[in-house]
Amino acid sequence: MFVKRYTIPEKIDDASRVFCFNDGLLLINKDDPDNSLPSFLEVSRLNGNLSEWHYLGEQDGAPSCCVGVDEGVEVPESFEFRDLRSLYSFLGIELWRLAGYARQVVDWGINFRYCGRCGRETSFMNVERAKVCDHCGLVSYPRISPAMIVAVISDGKILLARGRRFRGPYYSVLAGFVEPAESLEECVTREVREEVGIEIENIRYFHSQSWPFPDSLMIAFFADYRSGELTIDPVEIIDAGWFSPDNLPKIPPVGSIARKMIDEFKSIYSRRHRISD
Ligand SMILES: [Zn+2]
Repeated sequence: MFVKRYTIPEKIDDASRVFCFNDGLLLINKDDPDNSLPSFLEVSRLNGNLSEWHYLGEQDGAPSCCVGVDEGVEVPESFEFRDLRSLYSFLGIELWRLAGYARQVVDWGINFRYCGRCGRETSFMNVERAKVCDHCGLVSYPRISPAMIVAVISDGKILLARGRRFRGPYYSVLAGFVEPAESLEECVTREVREEVGIEIENIRYFHSQSWPFPDSLMIAFFADYRSGELTIDPVEIIDAGWFSPDNLPKIPPVGSIARKMIDEFKSIYSRRHRISD
């Protein structure tokens, strides 16, 4: 179990593991998957400018910190900076999730060094993960951006689209950020209408997932097709279509909630297909 802490202890043990980020990339020991993160001592010895030290807490008594380091820092040969998205299997799910938390905390620390209202320097609060402006009192918390993600189902097929901003040549379920004054259900309906021009019904909650690229909270739904012809928004979408469970295109890698939704669809509708056979 992970116990969060908000204050840096007077002395940090040299063996404490550190999530060390350079421009969003995580420093890992690529030669040692069992001991994949550098220690406090190893990070302290780096010859770069370390900033935004945060103490995250303890996992089963083992302390964890995070820090940002300047570009161009030299690291020992067995270490390298890697995109967190590619480290899901390497780190394992618990450490990967904690690394996502660390990434958001470091980003927030860098982005909110100064008060957004009056421009003065902020300082840490000790009772929660927050920064306060000592001049005007504005408090800032790590930013979390809610985004909905939806799997639309019609006649045993799932709606998948290839977005222009995808990082690979795969198809996925639709997603979009929640706008001010909008409920999650309204957001789901609007995004589907805007991106592919159809109407949906029977929206039902599935799961949620923190997605720290940079600060999303993905809230996932399934929904049923109601009416309309697929008409893609060419600004957002390259292609979209309905796919049966045994005829899926290339889909996102394991680790994302999008993949979990598509796997869930496959599991349910492959089974139904077999039963109806
Ligand atoms: Zn201020």
